[in-house]
Amino acid sequence: MNRKMHLQTVLDDVEKINGFSFTKHTTYGSGGVARMAYFPKTLEQVSAVYDYLKQSGKDFVPLGNGSNILAADSGYIGDVIATKYLQQIEQISPNSILCYAGATVTQILNFCKMHGLGGLEYLVGIPASCGGLVYMNGGAGGTRISDSVNKVHIYDGEFKVLTNKSCHFGNKHSIMRDIDCLILAVEFKVEQKSAEQIDADIEFYLNKRRIQPKGKSCGCVFKNAGEISAGKLIDEVGLKGLTIGGATVSCEHANFIINTGTRSSDVYALIQEVKRRVFEKTGILLEEEVVYIGDFNDSFG
Ligand SMILES: Cc1cc2nc3c(=O)[nH]c(=O)nc-3n(C[C@H](O)[C@H](O)[C@H](O)COP(=O)(O)OP(=O)(O)OC[C@H]3O[C@@H](n4cnc5c(N)ncnc54)[C@H](O)[C@@H]3O)c2cc1C
Repeated sequence: MNRKMHLQTVLDDVEKINGFSFTKHTTYGSGGVARMAYFPKTLEQVSAVYDYLKQSGKDFVPLGNGSNILAADSGYIGDVIATKYLQQIEQISPNSILCYAGATVTQILNFCKMHGLGGLEYLVGIPASCGGLVYMNGGAGGTRISDSVNKVHIYDGEFKVLTNKSCHFGNKHSIMRDIDCLILAVEFKVEQKSAEQIDADIEFYLNKRRIQPKGKSCGCVFKNAGEISAGKLIDEVGLKGLTIGGATVSCEHANFIINTGTRSSDVYALIQEVKRRVFEKTGILLEEEVVYIGDFNDSFG
């Protein structure tokens, strides 16, 4: 079988959804549809989907758990590569585990607990996939995922392994955001720890989250401005409770925008209004942490 026929055979086996709904697959619970979503289950399938989309010149976007995405109501003229079924986790040395991109924080912590491996408890409660977290360099309680990463396996037309250093991690940033790649798997540092201690540490971090606002959100909308907390800034400008349509700046945590409605355009308009007012009062231009998918230019139409 030649390479083209092989690629087609692999592609035919990949699970697909026509008219993929962002409303159903993001924590904001809003947004239109993408033309098609692919759900590869193996690395061969991931690379086949990536190669196919690249060769056919189609736009596409990787999707983890959809917990940091605002998709336009008009949808996305392109395809989605969803990592949901790439969930394998294995221990590869006494002090490291390998997690495929679609493994969720909950699955990773369950695995760690079962194997007496600690060090990642600070992630508890983040509704993310491993790939999304590393792409965004997410974290909590002053620790970033970059503190726990040994290596990142990516595909950009070739299978590559990046060291922690070559990921150039920064404030909600990694080099994976600058290159057109898919994160396939991540090697994390872990340490031997008893299940009781892991439970206690998880409880400690969960307690810190008890005040987290409820409702549909993406967590924090804005990056902190250097040492300045974006939430504190928004609060000081007096924007808690500011509402546009179904979107409201949380009264509990000003960096959360809660979507009580169904329209991404309301959330987007409120984000722009918060930026405008904070800039007007403080001269600081907040930068979004949330990732936009699709075209928001016609949002106010
Ligand atoms: C209630 C709530 C609480 C939150 N708390 C926190 C918190 O404490 N700390 C924190 O850092 N974040 C938090 N977040 C935000 C969010 O969970 C993180 O940003 C997380 O990293 C997003 O992961 P995801 O798998 O959902 O990625 P998605 O939202 O699916 O995608 C985010 C970006 O990553 C890209 N991406 C995803 N997977 C891959 C991949 N395999 N390869 C290449 N690119 C990829 C997407 O294209 C997109 O650009 C919270 C969100 C919510 C809703």
